[in-house]
Amino acid sequence: MSELIESLDRVRERMAAAAARSGRAAESVELVAVSKTHPAGVVRELAGAGQRVFGESKVQELLVKAPDLPSSIRWHFIGHLQRNKVRRLLPWVEAIHSVDSLALAEDIDRMAAEEGRRVDVFLQVNVADDAAKFGFSRESVRRDLDSLMSLSRVSVVGLMTIPALVDDPEKNRPAFVALRRLRDDLEVAAGVPLPGLSMGMSDDFEWAIEEGSTHVRVGSALFGRRRPVIRSKAEPD
Ligand SMILES: *Cc1c(COP(=O)(O)O)cnc(C)c1O
Repeated sequence: MSELIESLDRVRERMAAAAARSGRAAESVELVAVSKTHPAGVVRELAGAGQRVFGESKVQELLVKAPDLPSSIRWHFIGHLQRNKVRRLLPWVEAIHSVDSLALAEDIDRMAAEEGRRVDVFLQVNVADDAAKFGFSRESVRRDLDSLMSLSRVSVVGLMTIPALVDDPEKNRPAFVALRRLRDDLEVAAGVPLPGLSMGMSDDFEWAIEEGSTHVRVGSALFGRRRPVIRSKAEPD
């Protein structure tokens, strides 16, 4: 068995164990395999082993990789999204985890309407109120929620967060708890279900699952260290 497939099995086992510790079925947590900086070949290998959902954080990189890969792959966009790139991204993605403003959601809604489709989105919330990061604040997500829920082509499925970089990954647990509590509050306030919680990365996904994560975004624990960024089609895999 290749090292990559062994890593996939190991991550899946750790996910299942964390889900079991929180009394949930393994299937209640989706693994988003974050393939950024890694070539299409490794994505193909993982897809061949049954992995279906892959995450990319740069539009250009996704547009280079996705066309050559099996159409059974479901792409999730997880990086900061500039409004002028929505149109090019949309045909390729099932979900966007990083919607960080009402204006961006409205752009996605308008372009999805032009394409006659819907797209799932997570609202990225900066629960630590870290000034350097993208995302809604707790206040702005509360304020904009009704407008966001009224969009007809955008399905708000839940919340996403990227905690601060910390020396000890267990220190991220409070951010995961905060995101879950905010989600619970918003569900009551808006009277709508927000089942999705996109939280947890390679170093902390087990804690995130214990705190209710439904989507873990895992890169380096699967693929190893990130490679230099792929910039164009001309560059070899
Ligand atoms: C790169 C990235 C990940 C994966 O990070 P790892 O630590 O390699 O698992 C998850 N989420 C986002 C938004 C990312 O940009």
